Amino acid sequence: MESNALDRPTIEKYLATVRERLRALGVLVEDGNGKADAIRAAVASTVGALNDVQSFVTDPRDAMRVACPYCGTRVMPDATLCLSCWHQLARPAAS
Ligand SMILES: [Zn+2]
Repeated sequence: MESNALDRPTIEKYLATVRERLRALGVLVEDGNGKADAIRAAVASTVGALNDVQSFVTDPRDAMRVACPYCGTRVMPDATLCLSCWHQLARPAAS
């Protein structure tokens, strides 16, 4: 699946799924006792649906990021400062 932050219909489709799952979860919670496993499964399913949205709208530039050598946070290749651990990063040699 191609990630495209501007593909609004696809994003809306994923969000509709999240809404459906939350409604189903609400019904389970109203039904009450003895359904902890079903409620847990519904929560996991809802979180999975949200993850689908997240992965779809992820900025394609994230793929080119590199790990900070100090903390592992992914930073842009030409970053001179890690905004997670605040270590100075070496600027790559100009080519
Ligand atoms: Zn870092």
